[in-house]
Amino acid sequence: MAGSTDSSKEIESEEWIRPETLAEFVGQPKLRERLGVALQAAKARSETLDHVLFSGPPGLGKTTLAAILAREMGGRFHSTSAPALTKPGDLARILTLLEEGDILFIDEIHRLQRNCEEILYSAMEDGFIDFILGEGMSARSVKLHLKPFTLVGATTRSGMLSAPLRARFGLHLKLDFYDEESLATIVLRAARIYELQLSQTAASLLASRSRMTPRESLRLLRRVRDYATLARPQSIEPGFIEQCMTSLGIDTLGLNETDRHILHLMAERYRGGPVGLRTIAALIDEEERTIEENHEPFLLRIGLIEKTPQGRVLSASGRRYLGLDPLDAATV
Ligand code: ATP
Repeated sequence: MAGSTDSSKEIESEEWIRPETLAEFVGQPKLRERLGVALQAAKARSETLDHVLFSGPPGLGKTTLAAILAREMGGRFHSTSAPALTKPGDLARILTLLEEGDILFIDEIHRLQRNCEEILYSAMEDGFIDFILGEGMSARSVKLHLKPFTLVGATTRSGMLSAPLRARFGLHLKLDFYDEESLATIVLRAARIYELQLSQTAASLLASRSRMTPRESLRLLRRVRDYATLARPQSIEPGFIEQCMTSLGIDTLGLNETDRHILHLMAERYRGGPVGLRTIAALIDEEERTIEENHEPFLLRIGLIEKTPQGRVLSASGRRYLGLDPLDAATV
């Protein structure tokens, strides 16, 4: 997430906060309903679940849902990500080790290499892989049958998925940003696990600063826990959260320093835009992908920027946020 300094230890601690059943998974009511029907129907027919594609910005719960599916279906959970699959052989090996009912989770599936993707086509549709062993004159094709499994793909860029791969997923489920009430529930549950005394109003305030994203709400909670470890308040109330947020540079909308940097740059150097992603990335010394995946979706969602064919532009709300007169915008 934007501005995150999460260490691997913190990512580990994300693991034991993950909900384990669909009933424990908060929010996303439509998605939960559709997934619940597919799960129950597959179980009633004693079949494996159809392949599932989750799409949506980072930190909204795609990995969590994939692990829940494995648990609910009673299969094992195997997790990998497309950039880690550099050779078709890597993927073939994983596929042949799957047992009936296992879930194979591939994160960032839009980044799968073409030759790996082609292996998936027959694996997903017909339950076998045609695999070329060796090279040149000694190359031979081997056909391997697979046990029935469920592929769960996750992507932050569903538009980048090829049509043949997309068509092989029976369920396409899009995760939306979360409302404050759902985030407050997630925060309160995590606070109980951390044994923190957090009031409902404090949880709601923290939720309102969390960019509508569970991972961000949990990251902020861990920072609040740090402050609480030192300050030892009897219970954590909204005033304490406010102080923590100020210290962390998180404003009332949940924007961090990098978000504000992007907005100021658009206003001051580009008269509100349009400005290209590559230019923004170079000027703030960030990867294009970080901006596109971690900053832009939320700025677009709350309407501070807009996307046009010419590039990103600051919206009227964005100008108001920066304290600029909307009429003056073009003359910044
Ligand atoms: P990425 O694609 O960046 O890996 P993701 O969409 O897979 O992100 P997760 O890793 O599943 O996101 O979720 C991030 C954190 O938020 C996890 O600790 C998870 O437990 C928590 N979380 C996400 N969604 C929910 C939810 N609906 N209820 C409770 N906790 C949630």
